[in-house]
Amino acid sequence: MNSVKAAAIITAAGSGSRMKNSLPKQFIELAGVPVFVHTVRVFQQLPEMAAIILVVPAEHLELTERLAARCQLSTSPRTIRIIKGGLTRQESVKNGLNALPAEIEVVAVHDGVRPFVSVELIRDCLQAAIKSGAAMAAVPVKDTLKSVAAGKTVASTVARDGLWQAQTPQAARVSLLKEAYAAAERDNFTGTDEASLLERIKQAVAIIQGSEKNIKITSQEDLVLAEAIIMHDKDGKNSLNLSDNIRIGQGFDAHCLVAGRPLILGGVRIPHPRGLLGHSDADVLTHALCDAILGAIGAGDIGRHFPDTDPRFKDADSLELLAGVMAMAEADGYELVNADITVLAQEPKLSAHFPAMRKKLAGACKVGERFINLKATTTEKLGFVGREEGIAAQAVVLLKRN
Ligand code: MG
Repeated sequence: MNSVKAAAIITAAGSGSRMKNSLPKQFIELAGVPVFVHTVRVFQQLPEMAAIILVVPAEHLELTERLAARCQLSTSPRTIRIIKGGLTRQESVKNGLNALPAEIEVVAVHDGVRPFVSVELIRDCLQAAIKSGAAMAAVPVKDTLKSVAAGKTVASTVARDGLWQAQTPQAARVSLLKEAYAAAERDNFTGTDEASLLERIKQAVAIIQGSEKNIKITSQEDLVLAEAIIMHDKDGKNSLNLSDNIRIGQGFDAHCLVAGRPLILGGVRIPHPRGLLGHSDADVLTHALCDAILGAIGAGDIGRHFPDTDPRFKDADSLELLAGVMAMAEADGYELVNADITVLAQEPKLSAHFPAMRKKLAGACKVGERFINLKATTTEKLGFVGREEGIAAQAVVLLKRN
């Protein structure tokens, strides 16, 4: 396999007319991510994929590029190329074939709206195509089939033996598939899949047993089924998971208590003989919250974005830093679900200030106050907190895709 250069053409050029949705079905989100992204990610798991071509409607080329960037599809070593599709599936695949690098010998064509395809099925189809020229995924027909006459009455029962439902991937040697497409074009023939074109040039197409899970999402009902498949997919092999949808983060911070500084916690100035030492306003509570949010989006820590060597952040209002951190999360497509924050302080008592702090923090985070929980504890006079040398804070946050 490794010696043969393989590629994938993922067709996502459908108009989605069957969906009661303004956007084509491949852009509908499943677990917070467009369906086509899930599909591409499965193909990106195959090291032998030398090229992945995604064919999309011409009018949605920019949207697709934006979504692909948001979902960081290019962080995989197997990057995708996004090209314009045609009016029919056949034209779209042809565009894909024309865009393949010259060295590609075998190609798997796959529906962008079949996100539950497995790495194994793709590989089995490619290997069978290398061996015999062409192969496709299919499943035996399970239901009894009826031929229906006009007036919607049963004309006959169709023998089910030997009947299979076509799926994708459908893989073929590139030279054969190009030949099949050229023949179809010459004869003005339009087929609904690659196999129907290959059959016309007398190319045998091997059947690879597909999976009932490899569904094509074309209706709202399919989406319900798709959500159920995600929930029950416990083998972890499928790229569909909730990690893109929700993120968790934790933060911890501690500052020294010194004379001659104001004590600011959660953006609120608290009457106390001493305050926290720091380059900014040293709001330890807000810093822990910032770090938790940065952690959730995988963006390091507060020191990386607001270094204490930078004069711009001298005596900075940490609520403004928090708003900046939230803007970063928003740019990544996330919003705060809730935050739970604990302040570790021997003195002073803080609970009376919690309502004011929650109001400020919730404002900076653009959530309702009830989603910001504040707690305070002493350390029973133990350690630096107990000796009143400093105050510490820790925060846990949950973010979700907005
Ligand atoms: Mg700090």
